[in-house]
Amino acid sequence: MNKLVENKIFKNIPLWINNKPATASSIRAGDITNPATGVVTARVPLCNEADIDTAVAAAKAAFPAWRDTPSLRRARILMRYRELIDAHRDELAALITAEHGKTLADAGGSVQRGLEVVEFAMGIPHLIKGEHSEEVGTGVDCHSLRQPLGVCAGITPFNFPAMVPLWMYPVAIACGNTFVLKPSEKVPSTAMRLAELFKEAGLPDGVFNVVHGDKQAVDALLNHADIKAISFVGSTPIAKYIYETCAKSGKRVQALGGAKNHAVVLPDMNSAADIDFVADSLIGAGYGSAGERCMAISAVVAVGDIGDKIVAKIKEKAAALKIGAGSSKIDGKEPDMGPLVTQVHRDKVASYVDKGVAEGAKLVLDGRAFKAEQGFFLGASLFDNVRSDMSIYRDEIFGPVLVVLRVETLDEAIQLINANPYANGTAVFTRSGGAARKFEREIEVGMVGINVPIPVPVAFFSFGGWRSSLFGDTHVHGMEGVRFYTRGKVISTRWPDANAVPTGFNMPTLG
Ligand code: NAD
Repeated sequence: MNKLVENKIFKNIPLWINNKPATASSIRAGDITNPATGVVTARVPLCNEADIDTAVAAAKAAFPAWRDTPSLRRARILMRYRELIDAHRDELAALITAEHGKTLADAGGSVQRGLEVVEFAMGIPHLIKGEHSEEVGTGVDCHSLRQPLGVCAGITPFNFPAMVPLWMYPVAIACGNTFVLKPSEKVPSTAMRLAELFKEAGLPDGVFNVVHGDKQAVDALLNHADIKAISFVGSTPIAKYIYETCAKSGKRVQALGGAKNHAVVLPDMNSAADIDFVADSLIGAGYGSAGERCMAISAVVAVGDIGDKIVAKIKEKAAALKIGAGSSKIDGKEPDMGPLVTQVHRDKVASYVDKGVAEGAKLVLDGRAFKAEQGFFLGASLFDNVRSDMSIYRDEIFGPVLVVLRVETLDEAIQLINANPYANGTAVFTRSGGAARKFEREIEVGMVGINVPIPVPVAFFSFGGWRSSLFGDTHVHGMEGVRFYTRGKVISTRWPDANAVPTGFNMPTLG
């Protein structure tokens, strides 16, 4: 592996309040590390309650004017924002790679998926239209409105520094809300650049603000009386905590959690070309972004006699993966996989490989054998003959570890998946329309792929899982995002005239 030389200037990352950088009053701070080198490149403040209060006050002050800005004018700012993100795509990807570790192409792809939410949000004036019915009673008309909530907040994970925040705030802001974002304290720089670009697009002061921090900052957001809604994406225990805390105070909340995503391979995929296609799909979905994706495939369910062929092909391809710094080239090409985000996380993932061996699963490929001079690298691991009671199956590992379970029938595969506590995404590989239809209908998972390994919905559909992969009732972006960031009101109108029927003491029927 080529050694990457860290030549970035050390920076102190500020907050972003009222369209300019702001200094935190908190004296607590965290290190930002480049996962490819292990070198600390920046410090990020860990906000206290006073810092959160300052950001929320800015968002609250900006709300009335932003709410009253015609929706088309709001949308035009998003159109300019779209162009700016597009023009700065490579710069944003480089920021992501420097703090997260994923490859530049992968980071660029995630910027694109976030950009698509901005494109969706540009059309929101159409989606927040109300309905109108005339003469619902004699001389009475009825219409509905969708109105913004006020100050909304987003709390996001480390693994998608641009895309996950972009799932939230463009939709909230296009609907007329103002926003406070708290990105992961491991990867704060991309959100700061996105905020600068939003200002350049013409966003008024205070409409979008960025704070940083850990539990203290999050708790201050959850308990702030002026915040009307919280969107969260992260691990399941924290998602559950966010949901419960917000529910106690009656805050609107959507909290997306962790995942263990299964890919079912049916025995009809047994030609050489099909095996190749499935194995390519699975190594991309399992090891891409070093397995640090909430939609990564981490469990393969091989049905019938397909297991041996699939395991052999995944092993062959996974052993040949090129692993290196996300911004480097290996033999003139980008690596397939970068490092994990921190040393602690790398060691935790490696410890699951130890556990899998101790639990008696068959280790077909050992990622621990990959050695790097620096950084938080781990190779791709593959386990076969995994049982559903093993920790490598039960737990979300969030690293480059793929486990294979074997079952006899599609029904058994469906039962296994439906019994798993996580239910974010899943995929089936088959040439049978009937089997695919059965899978689609019977599987109890939020996002399903038919021969599509990572079925992340496009921006105009909504993203979200079931069971412990989502706490709350609405998924993010698409129409569910619009509903989450607006509330409905219904107005019944009567204008006095000579024929008006007077309201009596009984329940009015409007007739
Ligand atoms: P995390 O839960 O550790 O952190 C997420 C956010 O919560 C961060 O902003 C963090 O600062 C904050 N946080 C951490 N600990 C907290 C605490 N005790 N109290 C309050 N806030 C706290 O998640 P992560 O490690 O950053 O991200 C990886 C996880 O996110 C994985 O479980 C992955 O599956 C999940 N994820 C889910 C989706 C989805 O759409 N369902 C998408 C991306 C990531």
